[in-house]
Amino acid sequence: MDIERQQFDVVVIGAGGAGLRAAIEARQQGKKTAILCKSLFGKAHTVMAEGGAAAAMGNVNSADNWKVHFRDTMRGGKFLNNWRMAELHAKESPDRVWELEAWGALFDRTADGKISQRNFGGHEYPRLAHVGDRTGLELIRTLQQRVVALQQEDAERTGDPEAYIKVFAEFTVTRLLKDGDAIAGAFGYWRENGTFVVFEAPAVVLATGGIGKSYVVTSNSWEYTGDGHALALLAGAKLINMEFIQFHPTGMVWPPSVRGILVTESVRGDGGVLRNSEGRRFMFDYIPEVFKDKYATTEEEGDRWYTDQANNRRPPELLPRDEVARAINSEVKAGRGSPQGGVFLDVSTRLPAAEIVKRLPSMHHQFKELADVDITKEPMQVGPTCHYIMGGVEVDADTGAAAVPGLFAAGEVSGGMHGSNRLGGNSLSDLLVFGRRAGAGAAAYIDGLAVRPAVSEESVVTAHEEAVAPLQRTGENPYELHQELQRSMNELVGIIRNSKEVSEALGMIEKLRARAKNVGAAGTRIYNPGWHLALDLRNMLLVSECVARAAIIREESRGGHTRDDFPVMSPEWRRKLLVCSASSDGSEVNVEEQAQPSMRDDLIVLFDRDELKKYLTEEELADFDAVAK
Ligand code: FAD
Repeated sequence: MDIERQQFDVVVIGAGGAGLRAAIEARQQGKKTAILCKSLFGKAHTVMAEGGAAAAMGNVNSADNWKVHFRDTMRGGKFLNNWRMAELHAKESPDRVWELEAWGALFDRTADGKISQRNFGGHEYPRLAHVGDRTGLELIRTLQQRVVALQQEDAERTGDPEAYIKVFAEFTVTRLLKDGDAIAGAFGYWRENGTFVVFEAPAVVLATGGIGKSYVVTSNSWEYTGDGHALALLAGAKLINMEFIQFHPTGMVWPPSVRGILVTESVRGDGGVLRNSEGRRFMFDYIPEVFKDKYATTEEEGDRWYTDQANNRRPPELLPRDEVARAINSEVKAGRGSPQGGVFLDVSTRLPAAEIVKRLPSMHHQFKELADVDITKEPMQVGPTCHYIMGGVEVDADTGAAAVPGLFAAGEVSGGMHGSNRLGGNSLSDLLVFGRRAGAGAAAYIDGLAVRPAVSEESVVTAHEEAVAPLQRTGENPYELHQELQRSMNELVGIIRNSKEVSEALGMIEKLRARAKNVGAAGTRIYNPGWHLALDLRNMLLVSECVARAAIIREESRGGHTRDDFPVMSPEWRRKLLVCSASSDGSEVNVEEQAQPSMRDDLIVLFDRDELKKYLTEEELADFDAVAK
């Protein structure tokens, strides 16, 4: 076996916002840190984020503060969130955004020179710090600049810029390595030439993002095959909330080659409205009971809100994403969709052309280039697209530690923070808050170690055998299996589910898993996309099975999990988390119920009893009454 060896203290898998922030923290705490990423450095979903980072800085409306943000986040997640994460996130996001500014980020400004904040679905006040509709680009640019600044410091101190922080780009991790119960490193390959590398490191931070490539219609790009979720499962960690998948309401629907590409929520935040084929602003027909007092019931009030938020309620186009996606789905199913199977999103009649180009430059460019639609003159056609997974690695809120000693997770790959539905803008702030915490958690874990775990030769041999296996077979075609999986997930475990369809999907997944054992890839290890996909398939199948198993067990509808055979949200189910685990070879996947911890007293009293009634059981309400007295 010809295998490269590398030694680090902390290995961060993923170079999006969560990975970079974790790596910066670990390095700032003196740890020798590696950043590994599947594609080019700088190309991650974070860079694609358009709308902004939610942080209750109160720059545009001084009534905003962490308590309002906390409440909005819990409401958006339908009270299934890990409340400690939601609390830390709401309290620490402003500091993380200001820190970015100190590191050189150039946010849009208010007239009096503060960081500007924009409206977004589910946020009571304008809260998203942004840079036009290219916020993620600025976030990544700034974090990369910070990495380079640290490397320059290291170069001055040691003569080697990569002495303490080093990037390995176009490198895929296929296995985490352990010493007994604890993490000892990671195994993977250079995508270009297929050379294998063993990273020896006592702490690994997973920051691998989402799983969207298990679905046909998705805003996600090719890297998002659920690798971190699967690596964690195979190493013995647990995944929670996997049934909750966010279908963003507005993806492009036309032309077919770009179906699923995201149309940012900023379009609606900046005044865009949704209409059906009859010209009706249909969202007024879909305001759910739990949100009735918070949203405008007439177009006039909704329109007035853009200029006078103190005296009007927000328009229902800005309901949380799950509500808007379901409404669009219903309109299309009822035959009131647009010609290409979506609905109309119109900003052209709402803002002057110059303002649209200024506020939404990427959207203007995207539609002109990809669909030959000028959004300053005509409406867009949009429909739901698989966008984000709320479920992920179960972690300790304060440190990002998973159940496996030495394993940490942050960002989209972790679970809990967003409950059953994420609010737009809460991901970019999540990456910064919990990326920093995971980096610090990893550093503290290493400081507490009496003995450094060692990578065993046996585990390297097993990881190597698993990685080369598809090259030694000429069986099933990985592309065919991938397409079949994507179709099954899209059609049977999509935006609306039921027991019959999810059971069918589980049957399909079982068959695909059997066939995947024979997946072969012609050619060598030198840049071989078929081989790469064959390896990614293991992860997508594992993660899809977790999603489907949890989706069939949860007999209620909540956030990103809608069952047409159980259409109601159940207070009893809110008290339960579904936890997914797997055997180390991935052959067995289990999902079990686990009790959801009750919210701390000083946090629960931030809510009105009337609102809590919509979510809590009678027993929980009695506890609340005792606390609120
Ligand atoms: P990512 O940024 O997704 O990065 C994951 C990293 O892991 C990548 O570097 C990838 O190469 C690497 N990786 C994956 N697997 C492996 C492996 N096996 N080995 C090595 N490396 C691996 N959120 C907001 O809050 N506001 C927005 O405006 C917004 N807009 C969005 C627009 C789009 C089009 C999309 C797709 C998402 C948007 N989101 C937004 C969501 C948000 O961008 C993501 O949830 C977030 O960026 C995820 O960040 P992350 O650091 O967890 O992972």
